Parts: sequence; C-alpha cells; structure tokens
Amino acid sequence: MLIKRDQETIKGYFEDTSSLSGGFADAVYLPENAQETAAVLKEAGEKKTPVTFSGNGTGTTGGRIPFGGIVLATDKLNRILDLKISHDKKNATLVTQPGVTLEEIEATAQKNGFFYAPDPTEQTAFIGATLSTNASGSRTFTFGPSRHYVKRIKVILSNGEILDTPRGRVFAKDREFNFEKNGKRYQFSLPSYQMPHVKHSAGYFVEPNMDLIDLFIGSEGTLGFIAEAELVLMKKEKNIMGLVAFFQKEIDAFNFAQEIKPLKPLAIEFFGETSLELLRNKYPKIPSYATGAIFFEDLFAPGEEEKVLEKWSGLLSKYNVNLDDVWMNESSDVTKSFKEFRHEMPELINEVIKQSGFSKISGDIAVPDSKAREMYQFYKEKVAESNFYYVLFGHISQNHLHINLVPKSADEWKLAKELYMKFIRKAVSMGGTVSAEHGIGKLKKIYLLELYGEKGVREMAAVKKVFDPACMLGIDNVIKKDMLL
Ligand SMILES: Cc1cc2nc3c(=O)[nH]c(=O)nc-3n(C[C@H](O)[C@H](O)[C@H](O)COP(=O)(O)OP(=O)(O)OC[C@H]3O[C@@H](n4cnc5c(N)ncnc54)[C@H](O)[C@@H]3O)c2cc1C
Repeated sequence: MLIKRDQETIKGYFEDTSSLSGGFADAVYLPENAQETAAVLKEAGEKKTPVTFSGNGTGTTGGRIPFGGIVLATDKLNRILDLKISHDKKNATLVTQPGVTLEEIEATAQKNGFFYAPDPTEQTAFIGATLSTNASGSRTFTFGPSRHYVKRIKVILSNGEILDTPRGRVFAKDREFNFEKNGKRYQFSLPSYQMPHVKHSAGYFVEPNMDLIDLFIGSEGTLGFIAEAELVLMKKEKNIMGLVAFFQKEIDAFNFAQEIKPLKPLAIEFFGETSLELLRNKYPKIPSYATGAIFFEDLFAPGEEEKVLEKWSGLLSKYNVNLDDVWMNESSDVTKSFKEFRHEMPELINEVIKQSGFSKISGDIAVPDSKAREMYQFYKEKVAESNFYYVLFGHISQNHLHINLVPKSADEWKLAKELYMKFIRKAVSMGGTVSAEHGIGKLKKIYLLELYGEKGVREMAAVKKVFDPACMLGIDNVIKKDMLL
C-alpha cells in the first residue's frame, strides 16, 4: 500500500472546493482493497490517530480536509467489481469500490442499456463520497437522492471491523436499534428530531423504523468508511430532450418553473440575472435581453422529438419566451443534453469566489413547495438591501436554489456571513433544511445547530460514539468537535 508523507506531495488533500484553508496531516494512506483499508483503520484505532476520509475533493464544505492525524484516500480503490444484469435484462446492479468516479459508473451503466439515476452535477466526484453526502442532482426531482439507489454497502469501522450492510435486513423499532453484527450487539437510541420534509442532506438520517443502511449513507465519513457499494441501475427506456428557455424578466423564469412542476419534467434548473451574466462569457449566444433562464428536461420516445417543443410551446409563449431562442438538445445519451451548460455555473462561481480570496458563502438551502416564492423574494430583497454581488441558480424543482454571496472586503465578508444566517433562520422557520445535498462538513456545523438545536446534535454525537467510540473519524465534520467530549 502506498503511503505518502512528503508534505509538498500531499498538500492537495488539504483542499476541496470550499476555500477552507489551514488543513494538515502527517500522511496520506492509499489502500487498494477492503483488507488494507481495515488494517489502516485498526492501527489508527489502536493508536487513537484521527482519520479523515478523502474522495476526489469536489466537496463544498471542507469535509475531506484534515486537521491533524492521517488521510485515508480512496484514489486507488477505483475498480468496478461486478455488473449483475437480470435474465430478462430489465434490472441491474453494479458493485463498486468507493474511488470510482460518477462518470465511470455512468459510462458502464450506459454501455449496458442502464443509467445511474441520482446523477449529481459534478461527474468527477467519487461514488463512495457521494454516498457519504447522499448527493443529489437536477433529476432528483424525479428519481430521488443517492440513498434510493443503494442496495448494500460495506462499512469499515474505526476498529477495522467490516460491517456488511444490505438494505432490508436490519431495521430500527421506532427509534431504537438493537441488532447483532459479527458477534457483537449494537443497541442504541436514534436522535429525537424530525427531519424536514424537503430535499435534505444535513446531519444523520433519522426516521422511526428506519433501515440501518440509511444511517451510514449521508453520515459524511463520521461513522465509518464506505469500502464497497452495490448500486441499483435503471433501465434506459426513453430518450431525453434538454431545453433552455430565456426570459426577459427573471420573475417570469421563476413563475414558469412553478407552473411546469406539476407537469413533471425530469429536471428544472433556474438561472438568475447575475448567473446569465457570468455564463455569457462562455456562451455568447445567450440572448442579450435575457435576465432569467430555465433549463428543463423531458423524456420522449424515439421518433417523437418534434412533439416535445409543441408540448411546451403554449406555456413558454405565456411567459413571452421567443421560441426561436429556445435551445434544444435531443440526446440518446442520458448523460449529455445541456448538462455542461448547467455544470459551468458552479464552476464559474467557484472561480469568482477563489479570486475574491474569501471563503465561500454559498447556500444549499431547500424549503417546502408552499414556501418557494417567499424564500426567493427574501433572497432578492435582502441582497438588494445590502448591495452584495451575488449569484442565484439551481434546483428550482425542489425549491433548492444555491445563493452565493461574493464579498469584496473583510467587512463585507462578515456582513455576508450575518446575512447568510438570516437566510438559514428564515428557511428553518418555514420547515426547510440548511443543506439539501452538499452536507454539513466542517463549514456548516453552526447551521445544523440552527436546525436541530444542541440537543439534536448531542444525540447525533451519542450515535457516533456507538460506531466510533474514541471519536477518531471525520473529526469536526457534522458535529462540532467539542460536542464529542
Ligand atoms: C462544480 C460542482 C458541482 C457540484 N454539484 C453537485 C450536485 O449537483 N449535487 C451534489 O450533491 N453535490 C454537488 N457538488 C458537491 C460534490 O461533488 C459532492 O459533495 C460529492 O459528494 C463530493 O465527492 P468527492 O469525491 O469530491 O468527495 P470529497 O470532497 O473528497 O469528500 C466529501 C466527503 O465524503 C467523505 N468521504 C469520502 N470518501 C468516503 C468514503 N469512502 N466513506 C465515507 N466517507 C467518505 C469525506 O470525508 C468528505 O466528508 C458539486 C461540486 C462542484 C465542485
């Protein structure tokens, strides 16, 4: 097994896309199989060395950034182990190590007539990490988040023990788990909080009578290492049409999105005025009059391409969209359409934030359908009052817009942080979540406290101690480290 200690060589592991700085570690371990991984964890457990797990560093919350101890990196756990296709070719599962990229998973699925439905935007992310954050994408509106597509995982605990965890075997009774694994009994209570009824990935998944596998999925490397996963693939039966419609008024784009939701397009993504200004650098064909855009996707049977625009043209015209300016991209390949256009958005804003020199203040808030308009108006009012440069875009289908505040000075950065807290409190007061897909990591712990209070977070800490009694894994991720004492 490769172990890297040279600080110059390993400094890349002390970054992700959050702009969180100051990370450090003694070494990066790069195991190639579950046994080597278990041995690293066992030794670290015996020596009480903190361990931070690393995927491919596309996380937005500092989750993989270590502050001491060692890094356990997944780069060399990068093999797809098996693809199981049913005799009638209607169902398939894929068994994979955690360091395989989403891109590779999708390519393998596509080659065999299937697709991996969760489809998070950043295709270079590693699958193990995406399960650890319960990642989602624009099509989560239709298909649900990553956890819905996980049939089994192998989790390695901080003592090196391997827990094979298939879905459908171990359930809580109400909020109590009591089960035996590898000859050891696990008995503990789940936290008492209720999760918000929105797209949500903040803190441990908790529901009465839940499946054990769902506790590990979304736990952001704080309970154990996901060493293997069996994923459910979906049969590709129809093609996808991507459309981008441009609006003269941003509010029309917002209203159009609300109106098409019940018609169930596959995905609906929003781009506000400042988003389009950024995108114009790469896409000069964006009409100059446009101050808002909606990217949406629809399914169609082969040969019925023409009918797609026909189906939407009435509604588009109602919002004064010039049909000649609608971009359409029919694709037999589920991974393409306008995904690149959509993906440019976070890439561009990340670049702007990097250049600003300040750490990222970027939203991952989602609210219930009934509160979508109120939250949108709140964002618009508050940024107008404070005169911040901001960018608003994202998964409008699930009322999950990413607001990014870009301060120009240290004073503005402080004010932007205060404003962001107002957004959090507003969302929580309306039954929303503080993170819909990126997770909490190291940067959003204070927001998790807003959502579940100190009691809820302490209850999470008690669950962590069941699987990681010495509290060595993913320290300061999700739960503030002083709350683990
Ligand atoms: C341009 C861009 C677009 C994005 N779009 C989306 C999107 O649409 N949806 C979305 O959900 N996210 C999105 N993200 C965020 C990011 O891609 C996800 O959070 C992803 O899950 C991170 O994967 P990674 O391999 O880069 O993990 P890292 O950043 O390396 O790590 C993420 C977390 O996973 C933990 N971890 C890593 N491997 C394991 C393991 N094997 N077992 C347990 N824990 C582990 C780490 O400790 C860390 O806490 C986007 C990011 C960028 C830069």
